[in-house]
Parts: sequence; C-alpha cells; structure tokens
Amino acid sequence: MAQQENEVVGSEVNDGYVVDTEDCAERELAHRERGTARPITVVGNPVLHRECKDVTEFGAELAQLIDDMFASQKAAEGVGLAANQIGVDAKVFVYDCPDDDGNRHTGVVVNPKLVELPAGARVLDDSNEGCLSVPTAYASLARPDYAEVEGQDAQGNPIKVRGTGYFARCLQHETDHLYGYLYIDRLSKRDRKDALRQMEEGTPRYETVPNA
Ligand SMILES: [Zn+2]
Repeated sequence: MAQQENEVVGSEVNDGYVVDTEDCAERELAHRERGTARPITVVGNPVLHRECKDVTEFGAELAQLIDDMFASQKAAEGVGLAANQIGVDAKVFVYDCPDDDGNRHTGVVVNPKLVELPAGARVLDDSNEGCLSVPTAYASLARPDYAEVEGQDAQGNPIKVRGTGYFARCLQHETDHLYGYLYIDRLSKRDRKDALRQMEEGTPRYETVPNA
C-alpha cells in the first residue's frame, strides 16, 4: 500500500475504501526488505501510554518508518503494529492480518481515527486478544466485529479502511495504541492482572525494549 513509486496501488479505492487484499505478499515483502526490525516496547514504557503525535510530513522519513514497522511486525510475528511499539511517537500503524473470511489484509494507516458506528449496527465478538507489547499474554475481550478507520496513506492521501472479525479487532487495537491505550486497559481489573501475570511468566520470542 505504501510503495513510494506506485501511487496506483497506494491509492486504489473501492467505494471510498482502500483495496488492501491484493498483492499482499509482494507488498509486505517489499516493505520489510527495505526496513530494519527494531525491538518492541512493552507495557510500562511511557511511549505506549500517551497519545502519539499527528504525522504532518509525508516523505522519505515516514516511508522508512513504515518499512521498519513491517520488518519489526514480521520479526515479532505480529498481525498489526503501531509506531509507538517500536518507540516512535507518531500516529502510524501497519497491518498484515486475516479476517474471518480468510482474506489477508495488508496496509498502513497514518493519523487513523476510528469511525463511530451506530450502536444498533454493532455486534460484539468475544474473542481472544494479545499484543506484542504485552508479550505471551492473551485475554478474552468483547469488541465490535466490524470497524472502519479513516486516515491517510503514506503519501498523505485520505483513505478509509474497513474490516470484519479478527481484522476489525486489529483495526481497533492498533488505533487504540496510537491514543495511548493497550487492550489490557479495556479489561476488568482481574483480567488485566491475569494478563500481566502471564507476561511475567512468559518469555517473548522476539527482542523487547527493557523498561527503565
Ligand atoms: Zn498491541
């Protein structure tokens, strides 16, 4: 979606929604081959617990960040990654995530905002959720099974992304990150404590940034 030389892929839209299900493997590979995997910040690091800055420059630096994010996401075997998860204070997330129909979605959203949907349109889905910044922990969390995000692509063009099922969960989870919220902040006190205990007892399979 963010290949700099390829505006057609980056900006192709369908009903105003970005097409993020085509050439996923090729686009994901191109990004991470240009990028460098960075260690992942974990719960307690201040960069994860405050709103990130809006992105205002859509140039080479942003493109490099996105490439590094794809490389980091792959190295950590994630399906979505927010910039503050590699310590960068900027509203950007990338994703490479299947939905419940088996479609793979790959892309990037800059300055995302979750679109408020009418309460009647929401069907809650009570599935397991995990986060690279809360390594090895999982908890059940009810979220709407459909989500829309508005934002910009790597060139600054306005885009909309929509998803169902697991991908809807990913869009909400990643947008939350950029406003300073982890999924464990949405759990009951007891479930949050249990997730943190799971994290204490587990060993991540990827490099993390030690908390000061
Ligand atoms: Zn996360």
